[in-house]
Amino acid sequence: MSGATFTPSTTFDDRLGEPSQLRFPEGWTLSESWQRAQTEGDRGGPINDAERMVWLEESDDPHRVTFALDGQHLVAECDCASGQYRGWCAHLASLWWRWSRGRITVQHLTTGREYDEPPAWFRFDPPPRPRLTDLTPAELDAYLHCDVGDEGVRPFARRTDRAFGTIGNLLNAAREKVGGVQR
Ligand SMILES: [Zn+2]
Repeated sequence: MSGATFTPSTTFDDRLGEPSQLRFPEGWTLSESWQRAQTEGDRGGPINDAERMVWLEESDDPHRVTFALDGQHLVAECDCASGQYRGWCAHLASLWWRWSRGRITVQHLTTGREYDEPPAWFRFDPPPRPRLTDLTPAELDAYLHCDVGDEGVRPFARRTDRAFGTIGNLLNAAREKVGGVQR
C-alpha cells in the first residue's frame, strides 16, 4: 500500500452512472472466451491504477479494459464489441484467469491497496452497503479485511505495520458508520 502518497483514481469522473461489475454468463466455463483466456498470452499491461491494455496473442488489436476493486466488488469493463454488448469477452476472461492465479495485480480504487489475487472479502454480489462510501480509505481498508474478510485484527495490524489499537479505532469508526456486519 502506498499510504499517504496514494492519489485516488479519477478514471470514472466523466462517466454517467455506475461502472459495470464482472459477471459470468451462463456456461462461461465452456465459452470460447474462457478457452482463449487459458491458452493465449497477453502482450498488454497496466495503463493506470484502474485500466490495462489486453492484447491477446491471436488478436490483431489491443483492447482497453477497466479492472479494479471498488467498495467490495470488481469493476470490469472492456471496450471490445462483446465486452460492451455482453459484459463478457476474452479480454475480461483473460484478466480473471490470471488474477485468480496470482499472475497480475489489481488495485483498490479507494484504499490504494494492491491485490495479487482476489481477496477474502471480495464478493461478486456483495450485500448492499450504501454507507460504505462514507468510510475513509483507512476505515474501509480495515473494515474489508477484518470484518468482512475475517482477518484477525492483530495479524492485519502486524502485516500492515501498524499498532493493534490503530486498527481497533478504525474498525470502531467504520462499524459506527456502516452498522452491523453482513458478509
Ligand atoms: Zn473485450
